[in-house]
Amino acid sequence: MASQREIYDVIVVGSGASGGWAAKRLSEAGLKVALVDAGRQQSEANFTEHKPAFELKYRDMAREIVRKTRPVQSQVGACNEYTYTWFCNDLDEPYTTAEGMPFSWQGRLRITGGRTNVWGRVALRLSDLDFKAASLDGYGHDWPVSYKDVAPYYDLVEEYVGIAGRAEGIPQIPDGKYQPDMGLTCGEAQFRNGVKAKLGWTVTPTRTANLTRPLNGRAPCHYCGPCERGCVTHSYFNSYFTTVADALKSGHCTLIPNAMAYQVLMDTDRNRARGVLYIDRITRQPVEVRSRAVVLSAQSLESVRILLNSANRQYPNGLANSSGVLGHYLMDHVWVGGGASGEFPGLPGILNINGPNRPCGIYVARFRNLASGPRSKNFVRGYGYEGGGSTDFNWKAAGFGEKYKKGLLDPVTTVGIAGFGECLARWENYVTLDPGIKDTFGIPVLHFHMRYGDNERAMIHDMMVSAAEMMEAAGAKNIRPFEVPDRIPGYAIHEVGVARMGNDPRGSVLNRFQQSHDVKNLFVTDAAGFVSSACQNPTLTIMALCVRSCDYLVDEMRKGNI
Ligand SMILES: Cc1cc2nc3c(=O)[nH]c(=O)nc-3n(C[C@H](O)[C@H](O)[C@H](O)COP(=O)(O)OP(=O)(O)OC[C@H]3O[C@@H](n4cnc5c(N)ncnc54)[C@H](O)[C@@H]3O)c2cc1C
Ligand code: SF4
Repeated sequence: MASQREIYDVIVVGSGASGGWAAKRLSEAGLKVALVDAGRQQSEANFTEHKPAFELKYRDMAREIVRKTRPVQSQVGACNEYTYTWFCNDLDEPYTTAEGMPFSWQGRLRITGGRTNVWGRVALRLSDLDFKAASLDGYGHDWPVSYKDVAPYYDLVEEYVGIAGRAEGIPQIPDGKYQPDMGLTCGEAQFRNGVKAKLGWTVTPTRTANLTRPLNGRAPCHYCGPCERGCVTHSYFNSYFTTVADALKSGHCTLIPNAMAYQVLMDTDRNRARGVLYIDRITRQPVEVRSRAVVLSAQSLESVRILLNSANRQYPNGLANSSGVLGHYLMDHVWVGGGASGEFPGLPGILNINGPNRPCGIYVARFRNLASGPRSKNFVRGYGYEGGGSTDFNWKAAGFGEKYKKGLLDPVTTVGIAGFGECLARWENYVTLDPGIKDTFGIPVLHFHMRYGDNERAMIHDMMVSAAEMMEAAGAKNIRPFEVPDRIPGYAIHEVGVARMGNDPRGSVLNRFQQSHDVKNLFVTDAAGFVSSACQNPTLTIMALCVRSCDYLVDEMRKGNI
């Protein structure tokens, strides 16, 4: 087995939202960092946001080409003919599911920057309505951190990432450090005003990780549209050209690409992690890298897979798993469970097939089961909506020929919203290793055992009813409500909770700094530590908690505690 001679201070596994921050923060603090990533090196040459589909071999029309090697990854639109080679090949890297419990494990990126290459960029804070939810409604456990602990790190991350957003002064999505928002269409403005006036609920321009002002050499967005194909002006947040670039610039960070981490290596006598074993994806050879501390940031399920694969005599059920909790409490938001769209005839709108294409829309803040106010009889927690409005050609115009052409030019202004709901943390939703199946690198794969419960289903129905109510309140016509009661988990691509944080080592894997209770020089800084899913998109919180944990790690190393 090959072994690198260098002994690093810290190995960071994964270069996405959390790993990028870990590498930046630790290397800028002067620590020697190895950034081990399963993906190949990203490059500006791969960015195709300005490339028209007609220049592609299959005009981005042959989904079957993508589906052939990425049957799961292609279930999200961001995995298309432009981008599919950034995603893992599902045939090479499979996973299995329990009978009757489908799970769609999407967004498995294999390129520097991970999911931040293609993410939707919605960036919302959690509040104590989430961190202390169990104290409010009695379900589950509180997080071992409160909003006050995380707020300074939200500030720091937002100011660096660059979030366009509007302050609303509502406690369920606390305001942050925003650049000017991207504005609303006429339909969205009417929707916002009508909903506020009649129902008191908040519709706000999406808080989005796209720049409207220059920041650290990155240019403001020029509204071309398809951010998931990259951005040559660096106007959205992608760790590849922000945090990872800064880490490399520090001179203290070495990127090791194409390195599929298999196990955390242990010095069992001292109960300390001593490095990482990875499989080189090109040579297929195992390689050891050594360090004084290990930070797993490979995306929550991938990090837990590494820990499960690191089982040894001392930790037979997975490394750092003396609690037995590792792999349990898997959550993924209820994605687009219910919603509605409506038309706003008579509003001005300009028809243009060439944009501008604003890369965001609207967000409806949670209004159910707030800290004060009425409680739903049917479910605990809540949901928000993502959506947007536009003016489009009337593609459904009646007739043929001349009549159809005229009808087509009669603009239709619509607004649509779709719910993202909190998924409750349940012991019985978990991942283990599949004893019979390995990926193409010889690494045992995950086996999923997850389904939504009654609470999520009750929420889905409410998403539809409330969305229609909002459309009515805003004066929409031709309202089309919808609900999908049997959503498959995985589609939100917000998997969290599989190595939960807690103060009690008997019921949690990580402490409040995402440090393993069992192995003090081992941290997991992706979303594995989440205690609940909240209903807000997780990435801003992942990044804020990651920076907080890295600052703690630096401090502990300086004090000689690690
Ligand atoms: C299409 C899409 C839209 C999304 N929209 C939003 C949104 O609007 N808002 C939001 O908050 N979140 C969104 N998300 C989710 C968001 O991208 C993730 O929450 C976030 O990127 C997770 O950060 P991470 O560091 O845990 O993982 P990632 O960003 O995925 O990074 C993980 C890295 O680890 C590497 N890796 C994986 N396994 C291994 C291994 N064994 N060894 C070495 N390296 C490994 C990968 O190559 C990758 O680079 C979206 C995701 C997708 C795919
Ligand atoms: S819409 Fe803006 S952020 Fe997205 S790719 Fe275009 S310029 Fe970049």
